[in-house]
Amino acid sequence: MDLKKFLTDYVACKSVSSDLTLENGMADARKHLIQFFKSLAIEAREIKFGRHAVVFAKTEQTSHKPTILVYGHYDVQPADDGALWESDPFILTEKDGRWYGRGTSDNKGCHSAVLMAIYDLMSTQQELPVNLKFILEGEEEIGSRSMPQFLLNMQDELAADFAIVVDTCSLDEENIVITTGLRGIVGCEIELKGQDHDLHSGYGGCLLNPIQALVDLCSALHTREGFVNIPNFYGAVVPPRDWEREQIKRLPTLNDELKTALGIKYFKLPNGEFSAAETMRFFPTLEFNGIRGGFQGTGIKTIIPSCASVKISCRLVPNQKAEEIKNLLAETVTKLCPKEMSLAMKFEQASDPYLFDMPNNTNEALFRAVKIAESDIRSTFGNHPIYLREGGSIGLVSMLKEILDIDSLLIGLSTANDNIHAPNESVGIAMLEKGRKFFRMFFSEF
Ligand SMILES: [Zn+2]
Repeated sequence: MDLKKFLTDYVACKSVSSDLTLENGMADARKHLIQFFKSLAIEAREIKFGRHAVVFAKTEQTSHKPTILVYGHYDVQPADDGALWESDPFILTEKDGRWYGRGTSDNKGCHSAVLMAIYDLMSTQQELPVNLKFILEGEEEIGSRSMPQFLLNMQDELAADFAIVVDTCSLDEENIVITTGLRGIVGCEIELKGQDHDLHSGYGGCLLNPIQALVDLCSALHTREGFVNIPNFYGAVVPPRDWEREQIKRLPTLNDELKTALGIKYFKLPNGEFSAAETMRFFPTLEFNGIRGGFQGTGIKTIIPSCASVKISCRLVPNQKAEEIKNLLAETVTKLCPKEMSLAMKFEQASDPYLFDMPNNTNEALFRAVKIAESDIRSTFGNHPIYLREGGSIGLVSMLKEILDIDSLLIGLSTANDNIHAPNESVGIAMLEKGRKFFRMFFSEF
């Protein structure tokens, strides 16, 4: 099966999970996947607990084989920044060895490489050496909100020795990363309200402006050095282990090239002992994602706005707990809110961090999987894999561990220059082709 053709049709499905007007695109993506599974006589169906259904599929299961759960997500980030795209985000466009389009990397392209590998094996081989189950989620980009319910309800059917997740980053086409930890996340929106309606700014000087109150509150949430200024925020943080800091040294770019790749001029590192690459992996954050208040149109409107709001997300590291951080944040914000303002806080997204402890042979299947992955990565991509924690979050990975006690082997096929979640998202064609070859070898060697 032609990967480009498969991905072209897949990218054309406008499966933006956060956009209610694009329900059809979500349905199209599910149809595309189910059609793929059906073409290989793999049982597949849609299962819906929340807003967008999961596509669940499984090959014929035999008791003596190891069972692997393959995870990916068919939903994508919005592409509403259309003017900044050099080609239509929903038309796969090839340029300089890359495929451009929303989802080409995150995550349609990456899990398509796995699907194509399965296709190669099943269309040439009578029987797979492993039992496979597939979860293709439609709510990853909106926080995997109905996944806990899905996992709880499907417990028996989802039983597996381990999961394979292809939703993380590698260095480049020669240096593949096996991700050994993910940050968790807590997201919220804070609104401060002064008076019921906007006022003429002629009244100014005798009342607190909600924008002023909000930026004061925001600026109190970090220290000057850049640490998060919430009591006990760092209490549960597990410091990086020595071998992890050693692995990081394998990154050819610790600071300078990373700056170029990210398009920034200066890093701001709270603790100079750790490089940027370490800071983003081993420590938690509090980031402002968006801020709103007052008049946003062109020209000037002399008002004192009635309210102002900010969206915040915290990335968490092992062993912080999303629930605890939520409480600490709420407590601090409540304390910081001046008496002139009424405060509303809405929490939206939450997931715990995940730490993959290198398997020992008590989980025989996973132990073997890491060995096989290591040698197949070396032969397909060129170098020994690098074991690294990643700064991002995949809610499902911690849920799989917590709810079903399933560990995930995270093998990344995207890279930092894929522009995921940004305009002109793309993926290296060679990366996906090598990924396809790697997974073909990996599954067949079990
Ligand atoms: Zn994403």
